[in-house]
Amino acid sequence: MMTDLNLSDFIRRLPKTETHLHIEGALPYELLQQLDPKKFAQPQACWAPDFKWATFEDFEAHLIEHAMQWFTSPERYHEAATLIFRQHLEQNVRYVETSFHAGMIVFLGIPGPEILAAILSAVPTGLEVRVFMGMSRNSYAEPLASVLEDCVNWEGLAGVDLHGVEYLPLEDWTPRLWEKARAVGLVTKAHAGEFGPAGHVREAIEHLGVRRIQHGVRAVEDPKVLQLAIDTDVTFDVCPISNVKLDVIDSMPLHPIREFFDRGLRCTISTDDPFSFGNTLEQEYQALAQQLGFSRQELAQLAKNGFEVALVDAATRARWIAEVDKVLQSAGATN
Ligand SMILES: [Zn+2]
Repeated sequence: MMTDLNLSDFIRRLPKTETHLHIEGALPYELLQQLDPKKFAQPQACWAPDFKWATFEDFEAHLIEHAMQWFTSPERYHEAATLIFRQHLEQNVRYVETSFHAGMIVFLGIPGPEILAAILSAVPTGLEVRVFMGMSRNSYAEPLASVLEDCVNWEGLAGVDLHGVEYLPLEDWTPRLWEKARAVGLVTKAHAGEFGPAGHVREAIEHLGVRRIQHGVRAVEDPKVLQLAIDTDVTFDVCPISNVKLDVIDSMPLHPIREFFDRGLRCTISTDDPFSFGNTLEQEYQALAQQLGFSRQELAQLAKNGFEVALVDAATRARWIAEVDKVLQSAGATN
């Protein structure tokens, strides 16, 4: 597809956020190429714009297989995060929320605080990063259970995120731990309404008490759930290209983010797992402009939404939002 140069320029200059990013799923391919230049000489097939993953399990297996080759130590997390955050700065991203997967703690035998510190110490000047620990719906078993209980006390952890797979039931430990996390000032999130039904979004809001839904796209199937999300001031951290490539949504023009936005639900956009989708944050903005009719002003509002929920002080938030307005003004953008 032809890219409107003015549009690309506008998107590049827009100060942006990325608030739904799995650090293992953001593994820079060049790091695998360093490990084995021959094996990883070719770009991945899954990066083709029209590629679709056959199943979530295929996607997950491919990601785990590759991530495990790189993420073997805190130093490796640091090195990957350094490159990932550099790419954020190149795209004029100012604020990032990323999660690392709790299962890696047991798998690698590395204490969680060391992974956390490795990521945080890679944050460059000009970028604010908040790190979450993600955990699966069935991860509460020893030896991980005591780690999950303890993580709310780790210095520097911004919050917890319930990762996929959504067909597993929500277990009793989760609302209890989420409550405990909020009690000490952490932010709680949950993946819901991606492969699971709209009812999972309701469950995450009402039962888990989250105000940050990761994906949430299938809330479109139940107007009452959508209204609940709006009424409770919930934000959906949406990843449109991920949704299309995982076939949650047939094609970009059918993505419900258009309806969410028009109804006044606060949405942000992110890349989710760029290793497996070959997407950049700028491409997410381009897709919304070119295939869902988002105007410059609407793209700027998506960026502002990210700053509105960012875990920063009021002055920093106001400064970033003013910068977005300035770019919008200088672009003379009214459409
Ligand atoms: Zn995700």
